[in-house]
Amino acid sequence: MSRIFSGIQPSGELHIGNYLGAVKNYAELQRSYESFFCIVDYHAITIPYEPEDLRARTREMMVSLLAAGLDPSTSTIFVQSMVPQHTELAWIFNSVTPLGELERQTQYKDKASRMESVPAGILNYPILQAADILLYRADLVPVGEDQVQHLELSREIARRWNARFGAEFFPEPQAKLTPARRIMGLDGNAKMSKSMGNTVGLLEPPDSVWEKLRPAVTDPARVRRTDPGTPEVCNIYHLHRAFSPPDVVANVETQCRTAGWGCIECKKVLFEHMNKELAPIRARSVEIRARPEIVDQVIGDGAATARRVASETMREVKERMGLV
Ligand code: SF4
Repeated sequence: MSRIFSGIQPSGELHIGNYLGAVKNYAELQRSYESFFCIVDYHAITIPYEPEDLRARTREMMVSLLAAGLDPSTSTIFVQSMVPQHTELAWIFNSVTPLGELERQTQYKDKASRMESVPAGILNYPILQAADILLYRADLVPVGEDQVQHLELSREIARRWNARFGAEFFPEPQAKLTPARRIMGLDGNAKMSKSMGNTVGLLEPPDSVWEKLRPAVTDPARVRRTDPGTPEVCNIYHLHRAFSPPDVVANVETQCRTAGWGCIECKKVLFEHMNKELAPIRARSVEIRARPEIVDQVIGDGAATARRVASETMREVKERMGLV
């Protein structure tokens, strides 16, 4: 069975953009692949943060992942900093990665241009990312288009290390492109993001979801109720495509183009279908929160399994590199 690895930022509760763009897909993939899902808290410390906040966000992310359908009986779900081999392998990869390749990374240039003093961790981030993936010798990494460059660097690092120390030891991980499900922010911004305050939380109560949906930006051409719209330019239509059944989506298209529905009617229908999918997820999160020992158990078991696989890889790596 092929193996997949995915790293997930400890950003606290998931929002529906993360859910639709990544985690819902992981819940499907885990049926067909041996899966490692890692909450990457070491990646989160390269920018300023509060320790207590990070701890809470990591745990909250675990609750969200379990509620959203990641299954610890078939997948290994764990926290990166509990598996020390990630940083160990990252150091080793530091020794085979040219500085120039790191400096060329678009994400590094973007981040560094906004910082007065750039921590080395920002530059070396893709090396730790390569170590995350290659530690489990994963064949596939579910990624969005924007992460393909980082994955290419992971492949390059695998090639370099293999060429020097052990042909074919690390597989070159391939991108498993997730179906494009680009959900914009409710304010019409290109991206749904917590820092922009334009998200709907996956576990948010229905009243609060409706409070956010009601004023959400739609097709700007629909100024009056009688103005026809173009569904493709409207985020609410894309949310329908994610949450509503195909016959409802087809009806939304017709109603929008003919001004049959007003946008509020359209949002009410969306709200109903969102609720159908999100209500069981919210219910599961309540059950999980009521029994914190479940989260402790998943965190402990996940780390133990990950460490077992990781130490096997490191034993072989050290052997080939002449490390005692
Ligand atoms: S009718 Fe629906 S799809 Fe059309 S603009 Fe309004 S909210 Fe968007």
